[in-house]
Amino acid sequence: MDITTRALVLRATDYKENDMMVLLYSLEHGKISVHARGVRKSSAKLKFATDQFCFGHYELAETKGYYTLKTCQQLESFFALREDVVCYYSANCIAEALIKLTAEGQSDSALFVEVLRALQNLCDNVDPLLVTLRFLLGFLQSAGFKLDFSQCSVCGKKQQPLFLDVQHGGVVCDTCCSEMAVSISPRVVSACTMVASIGYDKLKNIKLSKEICKEALNLVSRYISHSFVPLNSLAELAKLA
Ligand SMILES: [Zn+2]
Repeated sequence: MDITTRALVLRATDYKENDMMVLLYSLEHGKISVHARGVRKSSAKLKFATDQFCFGHYELAETKGYYTLKTCQQLESFFALREDVVCYYSANCIAEALIKLTAEGQSDSALFVEVLRALQNLCDNVDPLLVTLRFLLGFLQSAGFKLDFSQCSVCGKKQQPLFLDVQHGGVVCDTCCSEMAVSISPRVVSACTMVASIGYDKLKNIKLSKEICKEALNLVSRYISHSFVPLNSLAELAKLA
């Protein structure tokens, strides 16, 4: 049986002599591993369909849950992501979050749209740190792990100072925090609250200093590391920017 799906390449790795294994993030089926035959030959017409962040209409042949690439009609190459190293790492944070933190075969159309919007913002020269922060805060919310800065996750007190407490798995107040908690500065609380509430179309109008963005990303990184698994590109991004 053949399927057609709109999908984005998250990762591609060499396989056998001339082939590649491509991990797609698709609108209709979530993550799918696809065997792309012969794409490393110099004459290969479908080489472009295995480039990371290629977005297109993919036609796949399916046999017993095993997918092979038939054709691809490219809708967007997102080529500009490769022209700036910080931008590239930011896009990789998005890809790594999808690779590590979403289940294979599980589709999420709202998240799919958010991914495309985030990548488009990166291509449009919006601050990569800001785009990464917006994406990860939205991603956590849609996954049911929203970082809620409006109140203490234990007692409900709506007052700063606030702390990130991995023992409680979220944001807590000064009364509820354990010795493992790290304080969250008021400027990070307001930055994250604002960024999380804004649409991707308005992101270019936001001005946040690099220091605040990095501080906010470090907080999100700590939270994701403890709640799920660490995102290596996020650490790289913070070092590079
Ligand atoms: Zn509390």
